[in-house]
Amino acid sequence: MTTTLAAGWKEYAEEWEARIGAFTEFAPAGTAPSNKAAAAADGKSPLAGLPFAVKDNIAVRGFRLTCASKLLAGLESPYTATAVQKIIAHGAFPVGKTNLDEFGMGSSTDNSGIKVTNNPWDTVRVPGGSSGGSAAAVAAGIVPFALGSDTGGSIRQPAAFCGVVGLKPTYGAVSRCGLVAYASSLEGIGVLADSVERCRAVFQAMRGADPMDQTSHEAPAGAAATRESAGKGVIGVLSPEAVAAAVASAARGSGAGADASALAEAAEAAQLEPEVREGFEKAKAGLAELGYTLREVQVPSLKYGVPAYYTIATAEASANLARFDGVRYGKRPDWAENPDELVDKAREAGFGPEVKLRILLGAFVLRSGFQDRFYLRAQRIRAGIRASFEALLGDADYTDSAPPPCAAILLPVFPTRAFGRGPSALSPFMQKAADLYTCCANLAGLPALSFPASVEGGLPVGVQLLGRAFAEERLLDIAAAYTARCPIEHPAGWKGFWQS
Ligand code: GLN
Repeated sequence: MTTTLAAGWKEYAEEWEARIGAFTEFAPAGTAPSNKAAAAADGKSPLAGLPFAVKDNIAVRGFRLTCASKLLAGLESPYTATAVQKIIAHGAFPVGKTNLDEFGMGSSTDNSGIKVTNNPWDTVRVPGGSSGGSAAAVAAGIVPFALGSDTGGSIRQPAAFCGVVGLKPTYGAVSRCGLVAYASSLEGIGVLADSVERCRAVFQAMRGADPMDQTSHEAPAGAAATRESAGKGVIGVLSPEAVAAAVASAARGSGAGADASALAEAAEAAQLEPEVREGFEKAKAGLAELGYTLREVQVPSLKYGVPAYYTIATAEASANLARFDGVRYGKRPDWAENPDELVDKAREAGFGPEVKLRILLGAFVLRSGFQDRFYLRAQRIRAGIRASFEALLGDADYTDSAPPPCAAILLPVFPTRAFGRGPSALSPFMQKAADLYTCCANLAGLPALSFPASVEGGLPVGVQLLGRAFAEERLLDIAAAYTARCPIEHPAGWKGFWQS
């Protein structure tokens, strides 16, 4: 049986956990000794016998399900998410739930209502977010992989901040059953892992249609052929300079009434810090050495990606979070004069400031008579972004008469490396503006893979590859070739307990 955990692992995990606080609930003894699935799958799956962690907005029976919200502090999940069930069937076993920005809203994990999580590379810095606990746990070597969710970058950005691999699958490729909804049309469950091959194994285990999620589906027949072995394809490069210039011109052209200083800030947020630029250049050089042809591409509507993303995400959040009212879900106040006051009190005490802000914003963009000004416009931008990417990568039906121009598109993940707290923090507004490079994959419903390109100034820099619908395997192939050639080191104190 491979379920016997390596000697010293528990102590190692607890020592790291005391420094980084990745978990909202940690059960290092886990379910290992009684795990029947592990015994059944032993030797048959590369996941057999491996411990893994699950972001605390994904249900695992017997564990808490807090979404890092005070409102749900006492909730224990009565069932297990389909994706988690499938991984358990491969013989891996959950050892805990990981911290996040409350309900997945944020880019630092500092919006957690429960605790602070630190970056294993430098514990005064954030691990990124919202799947920051999952990224930190994998980077520290506590677990070889963890599950996260990605609505606008929440797997890829913390993966980049912590130097691990992060996959946001095609919309619908993995069942959302058991994922607490934030913005249902944008999000999905994905993987954070210590290697590309581990990421592939986890994705393969959990993908597929699920009767419990009507938006889930199998890959179309043609998708299986999208593998990349020879390394001869064209990789489109979305140049960060061109994107930043487009945002700046959109900011200038936005006309009267707009808040000029906020728009200027948004344009500034799109610029890469020098170390991230350096990592991006290294990724380009490495891919070129592997035999790929790099070609500059443009996606003009991308400059409107962030406003469209935050319009749609907050609109859906305001509807999805209505159930957390102290009646159906959530901590109920001790006393209220009437039902309205009860709901008010429960939400006032339970939600953190970022969640309240987004519910208000969502209610604002959806208010009657104004939908065409905000929500419907955002949906049109979304369709435009998707069409631009499909023109470059091919669409989801796989019946092309000619091969699509690009095998994948390379772009930065986030304009900065892991940032600090206090005065060195990135402001909440800048954090949102900086989602520009990640949120486009969610708007388009396309797969995107973040992997470490290099370490600059002691901190990892990630880049991402965006692909055609259901072409995850191709993205994994390209990243596998790159990371085999240009591997990065681990944070100081890291010890490897699992072979990749
Ligand atoms: N930064 C994004 C946000 O705050 C990411 C969210 C996510 O992917 N869950 O909405």
